[in-house]
Amino acid sequence: MKKPTIVVLGAGYGGLMTVTRLQKQLGSNDAEIILVNKNDYHYETTWLHEASAGTLGPNDVRYDISSVIDSGRVRFIQDTALKVEPEAKKVLLEKTGDLPYDYLVIALGAAPETFGIEGLDKYAFSITNVNTARQIREHIEYQFATYKVDKKPERLRIVVGGAGFTGIEFLGELGNRVPELCKEYDVDIHMVKIICVEAAPTALPGFDPELVDYAMELLKRKNVEFRIGTAIKGATPEGIIVAKGEDDTEEIKAGTVVWAAGVRGNPIITESGFENMRGRIKVEPDLRAPGYSDIFVIGDCSLVINEEINRPYPPTAQIAMQQGELTASNLAKLLQGKSNLDTFTFDNKGTVCSLGDDDAIGVVFGKKVTGKRASFMKKMIDNRALYMIGGIPLTLKKGKFNLLK
Ligand code: FAD
Ligand code: NAD
Repeated sequence: MKKPTIVVLGAGYGGLMTVTRLQKQLGSNDAEIILVNKNDYHYETTWLHEASAGTLGPNDVRYDISSVIDSGRVRFIQDTALKVEPEAKKVLLEKTGDLPYDYLVIALGAAPETFGIEGLDKYAFSITNVNTARQIREHIEYQFATYKVDKKPERLRIVVGGAGFTGIEFLGELGNRVPELCKEYDVDIHMVKIICVEAAPTALPGFDPELVDYAMELLKRKNVEFRIGTAIKGATPEGIIVAKGEDDTEEIKAGTVVWAAGVRGNPIITESGFENMRGRIKVEPDLRAPGYSDIFVIGDCSLVINEEINRPYPPTAQIAMQQGELTASNLAKLLQGKSNLDTFTFDNKGTVCSLGDDDAIGVVFGKKVTGKRASFMKKMIDNRALYMIGGIPLTLKKGKFNLLK
């Protein structure tokens, strides 16, 4: 009898957790496991703000997929998924064409949410993958270099749209990187302006107010100017347009605009016709797509409701990894002919937000942390993610060991 085929789309946190657990839990005759990813490497999405600011190199935030999968157990296909055809039980891949499956795991991550705001697609950068991180880093350096030639002050203005966790973490890195750039390009630091524009009445909406104040004070000391309660309305080749008062607008000229104001699920979800909310599928308690007993959806493509507040959990690596683990064990159950799948319960260990590699804020197991202690914890969390997927060898190779900086 032919072995069932399990196809996992995406080698991010959710996809790699699923595959590394499946290769351990299943016998070689139980199933054929196929992993599909655009690149032959995994990148740590949670480190992309560092690569974007230039405080880490693009190669530091990625590793070869072959280093964590057992090639005897998992077939890796480097290709781009274009569409899922659930009725035909197949995925359309850009180069390979049709890929049939018996079971499918969709773990394709997120895309920037621009809310249809004009010009953002064209004139703003986003912190999405290794390539966009490289673009941001190179663009900022180009602006510093060119300023020395044409002396246009707006070249040294960087706008960050959104003071959510991504925006704040990126600002923390920029705060450390800009003095280095000023030295490297002989630029007077007083000429550089970093402006963060946030639509909500506070930075990090919903997070502990005392910790938000800590972060804002620290970032202000690092030359960041906040425009809180100000919505970005558009982007142009010269900068951004923001709302001013009831129905007026204002232009902020800037040589670099980074849009960090939210994410939606991978466009494939909509493209494939699944019912969704901002590209995310509201999954069943066992993480399957409603109406499809053979499709699991995890990570940023999935939407899980926090019953305590009746709102979706924010999409994070933490939740994606826990979902990956559960999906692997549920797939093992299905292959054994069991139908009593386990349901997903998010074990929230807390949130730590870096403010450069030497400071952070967080709530861990219900306790507030700041400063070096929080920064230490953030690096331990980063190392733990490596350990969970690639064990000690990967942690030693890619881990962050400047723990007490
Ligand atoms: P990802 O890990 O993003 O992986 C998706 C994979 O799919 C990638 O390998 C991609 O190349 C691949 N892919 C995409 N499209 C295709 C396609 N069409 N075909 C083939 N392959 C494709 N969360 C936390 O818990 N803690 C943090 O500290 C934290 N920090 C963050 C910092 C930043 C700067 C950002 C942007 C996010 C951060 N997050 C954090 C959120 C976290 O990164 C995401 O929630 C997490 O990456 C989601 O995991 P995933 O498996 O769904 O997708
Ligand atoms: P987010 O949705 O958490 O924050 C986006 C911010 O942009 C919000 O504060 C919002 O008010 C603001 N915004 C929206 N439209 C705007 C506009 N027109 N003008 C100005 N501001 C606008 O998105 P994110 O920060 O990209 O985070 C995405 C996900 O990744 C979240 O789930 C987050 O929790 C997670 N994440 C976690 C960490 C961490 O745990 N350290 C770090 C980064 C990201």
